[in-house]
Amino acid sequence: MRLLNVMIFLEFSQLQSTTAICPSLFNATSAQDGILSRMRLPSGLITSTQCEVVANITNQFGNSEVQITNRANLQIRTSQALSSDTLLDLQDYGLASSAASTDGLRNIMASPTAGIDPHALINTIPFVKQWNFYLANHPELEILSNKFSVCFDGGETISLSDRPNDICFVAVEFDHEIYFELRLGRDHGDAPSAVGRLVYPQQTLEVLATLAEVYREYTEQKLNTTNHCARPPRLREMIGAWGVDRYLQLVEAKLGYSLRRSSLELLSQESRTRIAYHHLGIHSQRQLGLAYIGVVIPLGRLTALQFQGLGDLARQYGGGALRLTPWQNVLITDIAEAQVEQVAREINGLGLDISAIHPYAAIAACSGYHGCKSAHTDTQSDAKQVAAYLENCIKLDQPINIHFSGCDKSCAQHHPSDIALVGIQARDSNHPEVYRVYVGDGDTDFGKELYSEYAAKDVANLIDQLLKTYQNQRQNSTQTFREFVNQQL
Ligand code: SF4
Repeated sequence: MRLLNVMIFLEFSQLQSTTAICPSLFNATSAQDGILSRMRLPSGLITSTQCEVVANITNQFGNSEVQITNRANLQIRTSQALSSDTLLDLQDYGLASSAASTDGLRNIMASPTAGIDPHALINTIPFVKQWNFYLANHPELEILSNKFSVCFDGGETISLSDRPNDICFVAVEFDHEIYFELRLGRDHGDAPSAVGRLVYPQQTLEVLATLAEVYREYTEQKLNTTNHCARPPRLREMIGAWGVDRYLQLVEAKLGYSLRRSSLELLSQESRTRIAYHHLGIHSQRQLGLAYIGVVIPLGRLTALQFQGLGDLARQYGGGALRLTPWQNVLITDIAEAQVEQVAREINGLGLDISAIHPYAAIAACSGYHGCKSAHTDTQSDAKQVAAYLENCIKLDQPINIHFSGCDKSCAQHHPSDIALVGIQARDSNHPEVYRVYVGDGDTDFGKELYSEYAAKDVANLIDQLLKTYQNQRQNSTQTFREFVNQQL
């Protein structure tokens, strides 16, 4: 097995490159705080043994810290590029694709409660595995934009269908049968939208492979007709040029059959109740007598010791794997209900919390200027300061999603937040670090603008005031922060 990996690996790359804009394992990014490598974990699953391997690598070569991303990848920072031996070890343990060529494509997303949610229509984990296997065996797809992204949503309460992805298969019940509704991403940052086609579960891999193949042919043609340094087109650019109908006609012609048509109006109405941060804390599983625990991970960052500790708990009490979430948290699943309290105590013993109203539960921040040249602010430190302030000054009774972004690219969180702080170039040299502040829903992707410029050092105080006003003036304890500010502004 290792010999095979050596051959596949050497064919593509001998050393980890450190010049990528979007990091992967074979193409890392060099930043102020180290060389950033990203491990792509389809559906966020990582076994206890893999946790141990990652913890050892970051202890040996890095800063003894791991970070979960908003696509449920894992990132580590090391002082030097990873050696080919380390990369081969990561391949051996299934932490890197056996094909370096397609390892850089975006992680395959699925709900962190796939297969365990009592309300789901279908378990999407087998579809994720099939697509991952397909990618590893089709190196010709390496020419696609590395932002090419696929998501499976099985109808879980913890839904991912609103996440930006190029292609999303969303389970629906129609005429007493379960299908996947095909959705395509058409606009930057928006959730994929229904295109009026239903896919039988058994057709899914074939349909997805054909969608990717038509896109690959378009990419090849574009790259051949433009200067060879041009970047590969995004899928949404192809759809913008062709339109959805032409794309689907070409896909159906290649498949040799037509996909079932559906009423867009009927299926795009989602009946699921979305409960913010419902994955945190203790929850029963579909499997009788088993439960999962969602653990709050402050800003998605854990020490190697904590990470290995969670992996060990999964091995000792659970199903032997962790599930990383796109909310940058972790689930331990398949715990016997009689043991959940014990596991919760041991999680606390690692210095971690499981409550959805913990100040860190719903705070997200991008890497800020220590990790990214585009950042105007130190988002990580500012977010920590706000969390510490909230911990001491206010008792939350609902999760409040606060998003710090070092610039308007919004890497840490694509969905709207309750409060968004976006780093901007300061006009006043007395306040070198400033944020534009948004709340609730509005006419921008971040919400309604509340302040065009607010000094970073005063942001904790501002958030404290906003939350106290909300708690004192809301209609009742069930009114959310978003509902409150939308009503007021
Ligand atoms: S949001 Fe901007 S500053 Fe933050 S990581 Fe992305 S590009 Fe960098």
